[in-house]
Amino acid sequence: MPITPTEKIWMNGELVPWESAQIHVLTHSLHYGTGVFEGIRAYETPNGPAVFRLTEHIERLFNSAKIMMMDLPYTVEEVIEATKLVVRESGLPSCYIRPIAYYGYGEMGLNTLPCSVDVAIAVWPWGAYLGEDALTKGVRMKISTWLRHEHNTMPPASKTTGNYVNSSLAKVEALKAGYDEAIMLNQQGLVSECTGENIFVSRGGVLLTPPSSAGALEGITQDTVMALAEDLDIECHVADLTRSDLYLADEMFVCGTAAEVSAVNSVDDRPLPCPGPFTTALATEYVKAVRGQIDRYKDWVELVS
Ligand code: PMP
Repeated sequence: MPITPTEKIWMNGELVPWESAQIHVLTHSLHYGTGVFEGIRAYETPNGPAVFRLTEHIERLFNSAKIMMMDLPYTVEEVIEATKLVVRESGLPSCYIRPIAYYGYGEMGLNTLPCSVDVAIAVWPWGAYLGEDALTKGVRMKISTWLRHEHNTMPPASKTTGNYVNSSLAKVEALKAGYDEAIMLNQQGLVSECTGENIFVSRGGVLLTPPSSAGALEGITQDTVMALAEDLDIECHVADLTRSDLYLADEMFVCGTAAEVSAVNSVDDRPLPCPGPFTTALATEYVKAVRGQIDRYKDWVELVS
């Protein structure tokens, strides 16, 4: 999806013009995939733009860095404030936000410990990741031939740039085969997640989503959806799922910051009712939650000014 430039990008403590936010070709993380990043969204509210669950996203960025033994030269609070600053400066009512921390220029070789750590935060306007009609028409899913990497290969709990080689292989494979998105199984054959979303499956009136032990990222949208499900009295559990659970689902949706709540209309050409009643109800609540329209989740909506 093309990026629409905004005016400023925050780089190592300064707002620099969009086109000046450059890195050297010998930047360490470019070679070894060792950067860590986040994907966040700000939404329009009556009190101005608000970043949804900003604190949790930045805490996850620091957790990703912790797994990589990367020391960010800023505190969580400083990165939160910097994020709000970039959103404010952009003048956008809503936007996608991409913070990234990476090993910079000056060292080469696989030892990251002597490397400098650079941090950047960019924002731009970004529509629905899986398409504007992903909620109404649903997306066509393909189970990938690529397996999700397991915990002792590449830690799935860290949003490390290199981990996304796995996701990109699966995404391109799915698109080339005429599907919209891939579902990834893990090395044991259990359902893990999608290339950039968590997955929810309904069977027998119960909503199920795979655990992080299956290789899924602990999604902030997944957590939000589970809270909303509880409010709507929808029984929802974290559970291991098999390929057959996907084919025999009563309904299915995927969710993530970029994709929000997107309905699934088929898996490997087995049609599913779409959008199902849980999908519709939860997507409706999600839209309200991110815009600060649900009182009990007001704290999740972090105003930028
Ligand atoms: N899984 C993967 C692999 C992802 O990249 C993402 C997007 N960050 C998600 C799940 C969904 O996570 P979140 O809801 O926190 O955006």
